[in-house]
Amino acid sequence: MTNTLFDKIIRREIPADIVYEDADVVAFRDIHPQAPVHVLFVPRRSIATLNDLKPDDAVLVGKLVLAAAAYAKREGFAESGYRTIMNCNRDGGQTVFHVHLHLLGGAPLHVPLG
Ligand code: AMP
Repeated sequence: MTNTLFDKIIRREIPADIVYEDADVVAFRDIHPQAPVHVLFVPRRSIATLNDLKPDDAVLVGKLVLAAAAYAKREGFAESGYRTIMNCNRDGGQTVFHVHLHLLGGAPLHVPLG
């Protein structure tokens, strides 16, 4: 069993504002939002970084993207648009070593990528 910060949120050991979950994915609001909507989509099964993904993880990564897109549709900002980001390691700005997808939206995002 891994013990990342996000594992603890998924196990309800640390509080978080969980907005979606299914058999494979849990999504909760980022504690330091960078946009009006900033939700993290996290696989229940912890994988440290994008570098650790195996071919068999392709479906799981797809589920993160699909869950984020479905959330944007449900919340009514899919048509206006949004940004998804997955950071990897130091230069990518990764701080939590449990793969996750950031969904940012709810306003025009004028800042450049990163
Ligand atoms: P990254 O820098 O890509 O690894 O993203 C990690 C994100 O997790 C950051 O945007 C943090 O603000 C967010 N974060 C850290 N601790 C928590 C927490 N307890 N609940 C929700 N989000 C968190």
